[in-house]
Order: sequence, then structure tokens, then C-alpha cells
Amino acid sequence: MNATIDNRSNLPHAVVSRIVHRVLDELEVNLSWVRVRVFETDHWHHHGHIYIRPGRSNCLIIARVPSVVSDHPHDRKMRGGPPPIVVKTWQEALVCILAHEGTHLRQFLHRPKRGGHTRFVRGKPVKVGPKIFSEVEAEWAEYRFLKSYRERRNR
Ligand SMILES: [Zn+2]
Repeated sequence: MNATIDNRSNLPHAVVSRIVHRVLDELEVNLSWVRVRVFETDHWHHHGHIYIRPGRSNCLIIARVPSVVSDHPHDRKMRGGPPPIVVKTWQEALVCILAHEGTHLRQFLHRPKRGGHTRFVRGKPVKVGPKIFSEVEAEWAEYRFLKSYRERRNR
């Protein structure tokens, strides 16, 4: 099964495709479900986003990959999150984006079907669904995938 890759950058398609499939495969998400659109950005830091619409049969991951990466650590200061990481190449930036957004997709696919609670807003009951997305988990995924990507490269 393949993800659909819409490469709108000058980055080599074969390398982009290999990274996309390797990361998403390992996250065990249904690849036929995923479209990935890749842009190059002149911003130093990578940036990703995922659009998931419940009831739709696909989702879209936007990956903005810096053509020149920063040597400043990607510091998020999130409580319980991973240590800061320094991304060294565009390939590593793409690995991080896919690990992060792919984890959000996984969280969505494995979301609890019931739960949540009722909150009162100005005296009126409002149903609040179960919490689906965890930012901390997505950031740890970036950290883990980057580490294993580097280990694989250095072997
Ligand atoms: Zn996130």
C-alpha cells in the first residue's frame, strides 16, 4: 500500500518517498489513507500540519521542509517532552515532520470511541469529547524517529 505523495519541492522524489513510507509504515497507519504534500521553505525550522476530517476516507499531511536547516536546537520546553533536538539535514527535518504528524494520525485512528464529560459553561451543559491528540507524545515520536534514522545511517 502506498501513500500519495504530492511533491511540490525540488527535493528528490525517491528520497522523499522512501522517508515518508518508512516512517508511516513503522507507525502502522493505513498508507492508502494518507496524502503528503511537500513544500520547501526558506524558514529555518521545519513545520508540519495534518488535516483529518472525521468521516472522510483520507487525510492530508503538509510538510514544510527547510532547504537550509538551522543549527539551533528545536527547543519546545514542553513539560514531559523530549530534550531539544538539532535537525541537521532536510531529510532529518522530513523524518521529524512525518513522525509528528503520523503520530497525530495514529492518535486519531486509535481514539477512544466513548468517554468525555460534561462541562458547564455559564450554567449550560456542554459535552466535551475524550482528549484525542497528545502533543507530548508527538514530540517524543520526533525524537525517537530521528534517533533511529541517525543510527541506521551510521551503520
Ligand atoms: Zn502536534
